[in-house]
Amino acid sequence: MITAAFDYHRPGTLDEAIGLLSEHEGSAFVIAGGHSLIPMMKLRLAVPEHLVDIQNIAELSGITVSASMIEIGATVTQADLIASDALFEVCPILRETALQIADPQIRNVGTLGGNVVNGDPGNDMPAIMQLLDAEYVLRGEGSTRTVKARTFYESAFFTVREESEILTAIRIPVPPSGHGHSYQKQKRKIGDYATAAAGVILTLSGGKCTDASVSLTNVADTPLWADAAAKALVGTDLGTEPIKAAVDAARAITNPASDGRGPADYRTHVAGIMVQRAIHAAKSRAA
Ligand SMILES: Cc1cc2nc3c(=O)[nH]c(=O)nc-3n(C[C@H](O)[C@H](O)[C@H](O)COP(=O)(O)OP(=O)(O)OC[C@H]3O[C@@H](n4cnc5c(N)ncnc54)[C@H](O)[C@@H]3O)c2cc1C
Repeated sequence: MITAAFDYHRPGTLDEAIGLLSEHEGSAFVIAGGHSLIPMMKLRLAVPEHLVDIQNIAELSGITVSASMIEIGATVTQADLIASDALFEVCPILRETALQIADPQIRNVGTLGGNVVNGDPGNDMPAIMQLLDAEYVLRGEGSTRTVKARTFYESAFFTVREESEILTAIRIPVPPSGHGHSYQKQKRKIGDYATAAAGVILTLSGGKCTDASVSLTNVADTPLWADAAAKALVGTDLGTEPIKAAVDAARAITNPASDGRGPADYRTHVAGIMVQRAIHAAKSRAA
């Protein structure tokens, strides 16, 4: 299918891009990698009159790692995340997750910003951003604000971002050194979105879990931060009982659709299995 006609803009600065979005508010869309937006345009589910391409804006690219904070520009691609050894050293779950997104061609072009801001419950990075307690930097005309990933998503394809705002960067607190991590994703085939997926990070001390975070992908209208599941792990030895309690708590907050990936009860069941596997893998990796 062919998209409806649109005007294409390729600004060189953020101010110019924000100006274009404000000038054409309601009829202009940002385009980054285009791997979610262009299929939507071909299906006429999105019909922008103006496309504002942000790939030429230098200030939106780049990865910075400091002692306590990681900052990733919105146009950093999934391939860039995989390639960054500095990032892998402090936050290896980003590479592990990016490697499970789509295929190499899509990862070469699809951006972290597009993935997290799109609001598609099937995207993998939003749950990872909730897991890591990331925040999103949003710039509008004359305004900058930050929003926690845990409060950003309202329902499928709806977020708190205003139409005239551009996501400029993602900020992630550096997880504790020696933490264990895992992102477990069940999909029908390579390149598919998740039937259900779960991320876990945790810290161990003296054989006990001292800190944990759990999140889920594609088992509700939004990514899910499973706070109760994490609380079921903290203070325990991560034995059979606390893991079962975490799995039950995670399953209790799911509300998946019945679709081509399976009936809702099956997807809830799979979500629990992914949580269980992610806890075991994270435990085995924790120092
Ligand atoms: C065959 C296929 C398989 C895929 N499989 C997976 C998968 O398994 N897991 C997964 O997570 N993803 C998957 N994807 C999605 C892919 O990773 C997308 O590229 C990504 O989700 C969106 O990034 P993008 O840069 O292409 O964004 P775009 O398509 O350019 O934009 C997506 C949306 O975000 C908006 N937007 C983009 N950047 C900004 C910004 N900085 N500020 C404000 N708004 C912005 C756009 O206006 C648009 O509404 C798949 C895609 C395809 C085509």
